[in-house]
Parts: sequence; structure tokens; C-alpha cells
Amino acid sequence: MLETFQQAGITAQGHHDAVAFAPGTLQTGKGDYYGVFTPFSKAWHKQVTAEQLALRDTPSVQSPLAIDSDPLPALPTLDDEPLDGRLWPAGENAASDNLERFLRFRGRHYKDQRDFPKVRGTSELSPYLALGVISHRQCLQAVMSENGGHLADGDAGLTTWVNELIWRGFYQHVAVGFPQVCRYQPFQAHTKQLQWRDDDEGFAAWCEGRTGYPIVDAAMRQLVTTGWMHNRLRMITAMFLSKHLLIDWRRGEAFFMRHLVDGEFCANNGGRQWEASTGTDAAPYFRIFNPTTQSTRFDPGGEFIAQWLPELKTLPAKARHAPPQDMLNPIDYPAPIVDHKAARQRALDAFKALSK
Ligand SMILES: Cc1cc2nc3c(=O)[nH]c(=O)nc-3n(C[C@H](O)[C@H](O)[C@H](O)COP(=O)(O)OP(=O)(O)OC[C@H]3O[C@@H](n4cnc5c(N)ncnc54)[C@H](O)[C@@H]3O)c2cc1C
Repeated sequence: MLETFQQAGITAQGHHDAVAFAPGTLQTGKGDYYGVFTPFSKAWHKQVTAEQLALRDTPSVQSPLAIDSDPLPALPTLDDEPLDGRLWPAGENAASDNLERFLRFRGRHYKDQRDFPKVRGTSELSPYLALGVISHRQCLQAVMSENGGHLADGDAGLTTWVNELIWRGFYQHVAVGFPQVCRYQPFQAHTKQLQWRDDDEGFAAWCEGRTGYPIVDAAMRQLVTTGWMHNRLRMITAMFLSKHLLIDWRRGEAFFMRHLVDGEFCANNGGRQWEASTGTDAAPYFRIFNPTTQSTRFDPGGEFIAQWLPELKTLPAKARHAPPQDMLNPIDYPAPIVDHKAARQRALDAFKALSK
């Protein structure tokens, strides 16, 4: 790209700023790309330098060019309802304020609170990071300064957050080092043969939040309404699609990319393939979340469910995780579209049928 500019007589400089290590610059001893997170993260901590984390100068304002702009193509109109702009205020200042407030008030509690969707325990910086409104470097510098100059040691909440930023870098490396994942292919080749189910009705129920599993439905309604979904819920809903419904993870990947305000190919693909047991570090195929247990554990008071499924608000908190049929009779909410045990067994059988 830079060569093209040079050939045209235009001075251009390139800076890698998406993650600390440009893809390909952190490799195994054998010179391969890492396909597993933990050794990647260890190497990251060992090799990261102050130079890599140093903030770049703000570029000076360019003088106006005497080149007419091409006419902008008309953008397609979407029939989705626009998102509420107050949720994700635009601009660099909003992003920096968010970072500062997170680190000052919530960062130290991150490790304990990040899994509870009703608690505001995470940074909610992902839309800004995905769009480049704030940089990975700015986040690392800020957390380091809050943590007495450390990235690997120090406060457990802050170091756990650093780890999540490293996951982001890891998936960007994976997308470059294992380009099949960008070509609609699983990271683990043997899972190509998996017999996904063709189930349009099940897929529609998942997208529209009417699977009869309240935590899944509440999460999907959060996504469609706000453009964002809590990480724990991304995991639960992704696994529900690929394991309980045995629907191809690629359908879920596309649906998320269409709706997420922080939609980022590498993180979405990496997270989804992990849940589908087709990706890096993949969850072993027999580890299948029970959505009701996850719900009881991470939304113990059923408050998140009540927020997004107001039809279940009148039920006692404990009953919101798996409402019994007699309580559902007067309420407009579906019974579960699959039985957990039977669906789990179906997924196990499909994975067992794969030859390694
Ligand atoms: C199925 C699935 C799809 C996902 N799709 C996306 C996506 O399209 N875009 C996206 O930015 N993240 C995605 N994630 C990762 C994660 O869910 C979000 O980054 C996180 O929920 C954003 O909230 P936050 O900013 O409050 O995160 P925090 O917990 O505050 O984390 C800080 C930052 O670290 C990065 N990060 C955190 N967790 C991960 C992770 N597991 N993988 C990669 N980066 C991470 C994000 O940039 C995030 O903003 C996905 C995860 C799963 C399981």
C-alpha cells in the first residue's frame, strides 16, 4: 500500500496501531503463529517493549487538497430501527472519559464483576476500540499507570483486564496466521465435516429471542435493541446456537456482525469458533453450558432477564431462569424449543461422529 503511494509521488507513513504486536511479529520459537492463547499471552508479556506501548503523536492537520472528491455512493437503507445514540456517544473524548471512569471506579472489581450482565462490571469500550476511536495502546498505557506501572502483576482486577486486551490481539494474529478462518472455514480442519442442522425456525427463534430459554432470549433482545451484548451472554448464546440447536456457527457470526456496534471480525469469529469447538483453544466439544445453570449463576436475582423480558417480570426471581409451564400459561412466552439433555446428547453424537 505504502509503495503504491510512493510510486504516485505521495509521501505516506504507516503505523501499526490496532494491537501492540502487529500480526506476525509475535511467533513461537519455530517461527509459527500461535494457535493457543496462553503461550501467546506469556510471550506477549515477555517481549512487549516500552516502544510498542508508546503513544504516537497526534498527526498535524493536513492542508486542504486541491483534489475533488469522488461522489459518495448512496448507502443502502436498513429497515432496522436506529440504535439509541445516547448509549454510545460518539467521539474520542467520550471514549477517553469511559476509559478513565472504568479504570478509576470499576477496574479493580473487574475480575469479580465482569461475568454478571446486570452489573456494569466491564469497560464497555469495545465499540470505540473496534472503530479505532480509542487505541489498544491508550488502554494499555492507562491501565499500566493505574496499576503502578505494571501489566502482568499488581491488582488482580486490572491485570485480568489487560488479559482481555491481549485476547483481542491474539484473535487478530489468528486471522492473519490462519487465513482459512477468514474464508468461512473452521480453525480445526476436522470439524469441517460436522453435520450442522438446517433449521430455519430454530435460527429465527434464536435471532428473535424466543427460544424459551430466558437468559438466551434476554441476551438476544439486548443485542438487537442496543447493538451490544455482555461477554458472558455472547458465550451462552453462541454455544446455544451451535450446540443446543446444532446450527452452523457461521450463521450466528453473520447475525452478530450485522447487529453489533462493536462488530469486529477477528474477535467475533474467534469467540464464536471457540464456543462451537471448531476454533483455537476450543472448548472441548463435550463441555456444553447448561443455559439454566449459567442463568442462575450469573443472573442470580433474574434482574437481567426481567429487564429484557418484561413478560417474566411478575414471576418470582428464582422461576425466571426456567419458568414452569403452569406459570407460563397466562403469559405470552414460549416453552423451551429444545430439551437441554436431548439437545446436548445430539451435539455430543454429532461431534463424536467426526474422525480426527
Ligand atoms: C461469540 C462472541 C462474539 C464476540 N464478538 C466480538 C466483536 O464482534 N467485537 C469485539 O470487540 N469483541 C467481541 N467479543 C469479545 C467480547 O465479548 C467483547 O469484546 C466484550 O464483551 C466487549 O465488552 P467490553 O468492552 O466491556 O469488554 P471488557 O471486558 O472491558 O474488555 C476490554 C476489551 O478487551 C477486548 N476483549 C475482551 N474480551 C475479548 C475476547 N474474548 N476476545 C477478543 N477481545 C476481547 C475488547 O476489545 C474489549 O473492549 C465476542 C465474544 C464472543 C464470545
